[in-house]
Amino acid sequence: MEHLKFEELPISKATLRAVLEMGFEEATPIQSEAIPLILNGSDVIGQSQTGTGKTASFGIPCLEHIDPQSRKLQALILCPTRELAIQVSEEFRKLLKFRSNIMVLPIYGGQPIDRQILSLKKGVQVVIGTPGRVMDHMRRRTLKMDHVKYVVLDEADEMLDMGFREDMETILSQVPEERQTVMFSATMSPEILELSKLYMKEPELVKISRKTLTVPQIEQVYFDVKEKYKLEALCRLIDSYEPKLAIVFCNTKRRVDDVVEQLLGRGYFADGLHGDLKQTQRDRVMQKFRNGSIEILVATDVAARGIDVDDVDMVFNYDLPQDEEYYVHRIGRTGRAGRSGKAFTFCTGKEIYKLRDIMRYTKTKIIQQKLPTLTDMEATKTGIFMDKVKAVMEEGSLNRFAEIVEQIMEGAGEDCSAMDVAAALVKMQLGDSFADFNEAENDLNTPNKFVGAKKDTEEKGEMVRLFINAGRNSQIRAKDIVGAFAGETGMPGKLIGSIEIYDDFTYVDVPYSYAKDIVRQMEGNKIKGRKVNVERAKKGKITKPGQRRKEEKGSRGKRS
Ligand code: ADP
Ligand code: MG
Repeated sequence: MEHLKFEELPISKATLRAVLEMGFEEATPIQSEAIPLILNGSDVIGQSQTGTGKTASFGIPCLEHIDPQSRKLQALILCPTRELAIQVSEEFRKLLKFRSNIMVLPIYGGQPIDRQILSLKKGVQVVIGTPGRVMDHMRRRTLKMDHVKYVVLDEADEMLDMGFREDMETILSQVPEERQTVMFSATMSPEILELSKLYMKEPELVKISRKTLTVPQIEQVYFDVKEKYKLEALCRLIDSYEPKLAIVFCNTKRRVDDVVEQLLGRGYFADGLHGDLKQTQRDRVMQKFRNGSIEILVATDVAARGIDVDDVDMVFNYDLPQDEEYYVHRIGRTGRAGRSGKAFTFCTGKEIYKLRDIMRYTKTKIIQQKLPTLTDMEATKTGIFMDKVKAVMEEGSLNRFAEIVEQIMEGAGEDCSAMDVAAALVKMQLGDSFADFNEAENDLNTPNKFVGAKKDTEEKGEMVRLFINAGRNSQIRAKDIVGAFAGETGMPGKLIGSIEIYDDFTYVDVPYSYAKDIVRQMEGNKIKGRKVNVERAKKGKITKPGQRRKEEKGSRGKRS
């Protein structure tokens, strides 16, 4: 499948402008195939891996379908979690940058329902919500489905995994049959096909499958870096390893410009390459890169596709690539022609899942490393400086300068030794750069909360037991709890440990780092339509994730 240019798609000028502003250079494969079909009015099942741009695949056609003159609800997007609902609605807002007459609202549990009702009354045409909260509004008649003509089940596999099947079916059966139904998913399952048979009309299946890829045998490392420290991390790695030629990959054009500017600001020789540049400009940048007048080339995937340089000794994934194929192309830029190369990837928070996908699929191990610390950096800088000083001493012809040292000593008085003067000169050379790193130092290598949480819980078993004041008598099942907790906090359902359901109460083990958030988010919230109270349990033994399935089955067995 070719990548289409957005200009080749039959979309409005306003949407095209917005997409270009977002920095997208070309449509991803799923977008190239799905957008024309959906624009044509077909029901579509789209399957492609995470991070391949499924949101815009249904978002762009959705906005083209809305009648801005009508203030009735026209499109409903269902997402598995609060976090995804927010993400999708942010993407919609960006797509709507040049249109003021379409209103989009995310609705999810954990946010006061009154506020949502007020917003809905203003005449929202697109609602992006989690199934539980959408049902809630349907029951209250604050969401009316009568004019809905476009329904999207986003991340359908995840919604099913989280036990939303019943809710999804209830919602779908209340939307007029005269509608377009679109479903996106990273994986396909019999259950998804079953749903599609029941609720879709002759759906077109768009499947973007993975190509077989050969991964170059080079050193691959990743760093867990917060977004705001990426530049600092990049600079440290460049200073420590001193590559002659490095390519830094970013996901958008704007990002390329930003990074180039910041690198220049810090005194690096850098330039950028992206699709907005004319051929002559590109040639000029490449010329500079080849003859060594720039040491860092910042580029998008598309722009880098055409370049051919052999001796790149380091590749940085400043942004995690959109898919595995890009990853393999990117790192293939180094270690060519038998040279050694390194690939460094920055990974922020939950992106670790995407990175694990890349590892699984490319069958490579990307090992985690810590960024060079302040002390490492000082040692590196000092080493480089000492080598330079030695070289200058070996060159000789120092007499004129030795005279100046004597003058300084005389002027400074009797106590001043040659050592004092030398130390002052070294400080003048190195002092500033030593100080540079101080601010970020404490924060830089502290693992991101999310990744830390995963590690702690899976490896050290740091779980917290929560108590819910409802159980079997309220018809609460394990999947309702997984759905509610994961939906409210964005925590992956699989991190939940044991769930023990008794007649009037339930114990649930959750990762320590999520416990507080869950308790807070569940305050005033419902599970299975029943208001519940969630708090930290007084005591009890804790189980690790992975043991849940067994227990669930066990308790189900007992009941029947
Ligand atoms: P998925 O739903 O397939 O997991 P998303 O729709 O969340 O993927 O997209 C992942 C990221 O890729 C988002 O940051 C999005 O803005 C970006 N993106 C989407 N389409 C493109 C494109 N054509 N070019 C560059 N970036 C894109
Ligand atoms: Mg998605």
